Amino acid sequence: MSLSNFRSNEEGSVSTLVALLMVVLVGTLALVTDAGLLYINQGKMHNALDSAVLAGVRELPANPQEALQVAGNYGSLNGLSTEEASFQLDSDQHSISGYAERQVELGFARALGFTSKIVAVSAKARIAPISSTGGVVPFGVIEGNFTFGQEITLKEGAGDQEYNGWFGALSLGGSGAHIYRDNIKYGYPEEISIGDIIDIEAGNMSGPTRAGVEYRLNQCEHIPQCSINSYVEGCPRILIVPIVNIEELNESGHPFTVKVKGFGAFLVEEYTGNGNDNQVRGAFIQYVIPGKPSSDAGDFGLYGVQLIE
Ligand SMILES: [Zn+2]
Repeated sequence: MSLSNFRSNEEGSVSTLVALLMVVLVGTLALVTDAGLLYINQGKMHNALDSAVLAGVRELPANPQEALQVAGNYGSLNGLSTEEASFQLDSDQHSISGYAERQVELGFARALGFTSKIVAVSAKARIAPISSTGGVVPFGVIEGNFTFGQEITLKEGAGDQEYNGWFGALSLGGSGAHIYRDNIKYGYPEEISIGDIIDIEAGNMSGPTRAGVEYRLNQCEHIPQCSINSYVEGCPRILIVPIVNIEELNESGHPFTVKVKGFGAFLVEEYTGNGNDNQVRGAFIQYVIPGKPSSDAGDFGLYGVQLIE
């Protein structure tokens, strides 16, 4: 074999090797850049879908149709078109599922014959009764007396008919008129949980009840002012109320402590009367707050929100 023959053979192998390397390189580039493209799309779609189902579920259980509308709008705002995303209400009306699909056009992978790939994401959020919360007002509502949606008297100056000697007031973080009044005005700042035992506040407390409730009523700056029929989320007229059972009676047979069974949201509309005639009136509503949802908490209409998928 002559020297020149040897050279051309070697050049042949080198160019074959270069060609092979090019295929590997283009393939790797395609994988890396296109995988990145798919990954970015999937991440953005997932975030958009998560925020859409979270926004939508906050309308439940009161407005199921609006909940789907809100989820769709949120999706659109975050880059998921109405063709890409769809939302479904679950049969118990307590959760929303979202699904989105997008055909992503590929770049380098075209060299290998792949032009596009479908990226799909799903998400699900639910509302569930909360098991603990801060900001409750010092009015205890007996579990058996809880009614929903209709106008009721939350606290009566004459006291509870069933539990003689209890006027519905609770002692949160200490007793006394000032603490009690401030707990109505601002909500008790510490967290209260299901199962907590709370002391009864003695007396009908009509003066501090009036001061606290009127403060809440006047804090509503919405036009028209919030009522059972129409209210704005976060309005100070919405009170977080512990739903309780009597835990202990004192020597005279009057309630002494109560045990927390759950939480409700009460929209307060008016304070009427004085002394034994005082009444705090309004209605329990279905309401969502940023609290921790729990699967085994009693349902009194106050819910927390959670992503479950
Ligand atoms: Zn208001």
